[in-house]
Amino acid sequence: MGTEALSRPARPPAVQGKRTYRADLRIGVEAIRHNVAVLSGHARRSGARTMAVVKSGGYGHGAVTVARAALESGADCLGVASPDEAMQLRAAGITSPLLCWLYAHGEDFTPAVDADVQLSASSVAELRAIAAAAGHTGRTAAVHLKIDTGLGRNGCPEQLWPALVEAAAKAQSDGLVNIVGVWSHLANAETPGHASIDAQVEAFRRAHDLAVTTGLNPLRHIANSAALLTRPDLHFDLVRPGIAIYGLDPVPEHGDHGLRPAMTFRSSVALTKHVAGGEGVSYGYAWVAERPSNLALVPVGYADGVPRALSGQMSVWLRGQRRPMVGRICMDQLVVLCGDDTVAEGDEVVLFGPGDQGEPTATEWAEQLDTIHYEIVTGMHRSRVTRTNVGN
Ligand SMILES: *Cc1c(COP(=O)(O)O)cnc(C)c1O
Repeated sequence: MGTEALSRPARPPAVQGKRTYRADLRIGVEAIRHNVAVLSGHARRSGARTMAVVKSGGYGHGAVTVARAALESGADCLGVASPDEAMQLRAAGITSPLLCWLYAHGEDFTPAVDADVQLSASSVAELRAIAAAAGHTGRTAAVHLKIDTGLGRNGCPEQLWPALVEAAAKAQSDGLVNIVGVWSHLANAETPGHASIDAQVEAFRRAHDLAVTTGLNPLRHIANSAALLTRPDLHFDLVRPGIAIYGLDPVPEHGDHGLRPAMTFRSSVALTKHVAGGEGVSYGYAWVAERPSNLALVPVGYADGVPRALSGQMSVWLRGQRRPMVGRICMDQLVVLCGDDTVAEGDEVVLFGPGDQGEPTATEWAEQLDTIHYEIVTGMHRSRVTRTNVGN
């Protein structure tokens, strides 16, 4: 190659006859709609409304897409962790009630109050900062007071709750805030029957009672997906499902809840080749062909969210069956063993999906990696990975 090859301007890519994917997350929007309808139906039967939790980019599915689909399918409002996430939904034109609850130290609440974003307060300091933002904007901030009933993360410790409620009642009478809710989060909802659940609920009721005796009239909410599915008595006024919206069941041993996984991760075969027996494949020769075999190269790797720890442990769905991935997963590519079968370049490869055809699922990846499906789907949206909504 002459050195001019290194400085020649790039040629545009060849037009392909067939649409193939390098690394694509296919989001089944109709599955999200179905799941939200199922979940909000359960809530409605208990007289509760539904907050769809779309934090962390809708658990990797796309916050705006999920938010719109959820609001069209039975969700009454939205929840996210940070004010930035809330502002992104507002910027996309979403006007529904929207709560956020986790802040950086010294967070400026002015943009959120100005955009009519509801804010959680876990301390008198947070409440004061929110009230100050309300003062600046001339608006009344809608606030949910969060009690830590035993999760030990954010939320106001029980011994500080009376002071928070007092301060809230004062700020409300000053017209700076409107106390919309009292809320909490469970530590062991995915273990139905865990003794901590009822202990947390008792503390929650005490906290709400104190707010009411102080003259406030807040809604109550404590149930995430697992509590929504297993404890109708904990629906209170509002439920906050996250993971179940995406079709991943946090309590599968509790029965089939009829949820449909919405995310499929797919690629397509970039290259096929044949190896002789005894040939090593991929870094370190962690796999050596025992006999002559056909291989398929799939152009996704750990940079695209395929965990390297699944090297030699995972399989993919290719030409109507599961086929084992062999050797090490690299940054950009992995190799699939096809034995004597012939597969074609361009064939679709499903790394995980709903499981309907027999393809691997995000839940299977999580089990192999000793983690939870939440982490798998939330970690999939990388810079080189496209996202395609279907059924929108
Ligand atoms: C993430 C989150 C939820 C949703 O939990 P899931 O287990 O995904 O249903 C609800 N409430 C709070 C406070 C959360 O942080």
